[in-house]
Amino acid sequence: MTLETEFERVTLPLEHDFTIARGTMSTAENVVVRVSDGAGMTGVGGAAPSPHYGETADTVEAVLPDLLAVVERVGDPHALDRIERRMRETVNDNPAARSAVSVALHDLAAKRLGVPLYRLWGLDPTETPKTSFTIGIDDPETMREKTEAAVDAGYPVLKVKLGTDRDRELVETIRDAAPDATVRVDANEGWTPREAVRKCEWLADYGVEFVEQPVPAENREGLQFVYERSPLPIAGDESCVTLKDVPQIADRVDIANLKLMKCGGLREARRMIHTARAHGLEVMLGCMIESNASIAAACHLAPLLDYADLDGSLLLADDAYEGVDLTGGDIRLADSPAGTGAR
Ligand SMILES: [Mg+2]
Repeated sequence: MTLETEFERVTLPLEHDFTIARGTMSTAENVVVRVSDGAGMTGVGGAAPSPHYGETADTVEAVLPDLLAVVERVGDPHALDRIERRMRETVNDNPAARSAVSVALHDLAAKRLGVPLYRLWGLDPTETPKTSFTIGIDDPETMREKTEAAVDAGYPVLKVKLGTDRDRELVETIRDAAPDATVRVDANEGWTPREAVRKCEWLADYGVEFVEQPVPAENREGLQFVYERSPLPIAGDESCVTLKDVPQIADRVDIANLKLMKCGGLREARRMIHTARAHGLEVMLGCMIESNASIAAACHLAPLLDYADLDGSLLLADDAYEGVDLTGGDIRLADSPAGTGAR
């Protein structure tokens, strides 16, 4: 079969400037990949490169010709394992670039079979956790407004970015604006181990559900220090990048937070989910600031998750792609058309 491939850089404006412990962004650069089977079917995928993991839109555009050459050489959109393996051998790292191709191929393969992606995997579309909606760091008044808007839009689970010198004020503001919401906290490596334990103690008093990445990923002993003393469950995100990290963090987190843009594709994400379970961990799937070109595919993994944080497209002012309906935080997979539902 002759597969045709193309890619295109897209600049996605955010609804609000998005600030986390590491910095602020107002637009996200994604790269959209399309793979066509020459018989009228096209699969779409997206790369949301993160400089934190060594990628930019430039690096994605630089390696995509090599990755798409692998796709064209194999020539079979259903040979998903083989293509993902060869892509890894070809460019080694570059997970967002590989993920864009992986998603486009899965979309195309499922479309050719006439089924939504979850069905290709035999998953139950009704067994999905709700996605959280993220409130970035801002001044208290803006955070209150964003929180009230999220509650009004029906999102019952909020994720709050911390890692500042006014963390308590931010949490108080959010709790006050959303007394009934489930609240999760993400420090994005912003605390020292002792600070993290102290903050987890008072965060427990605010009814926070769990705390994500309290300390820097390279501080493995610090993560264990927090895990052993925190009254709240701990999730690893920056500490949990690829499959080999899962056994390494299994004795120092409760929850493994995976992302397609860290692990490099849908098949690798599924291997990570099963490996995390084998180590007794709960599983969360997160995202970057991403278009539905990639988020839609991530939504199809939802039946395998305990927690979902798939709001990347909800934070955009405008997304050229529609995806799986996430109104009110419900991941409505059962309504999904063939493929990933990105269109
Ligand atoms: Mg995180």
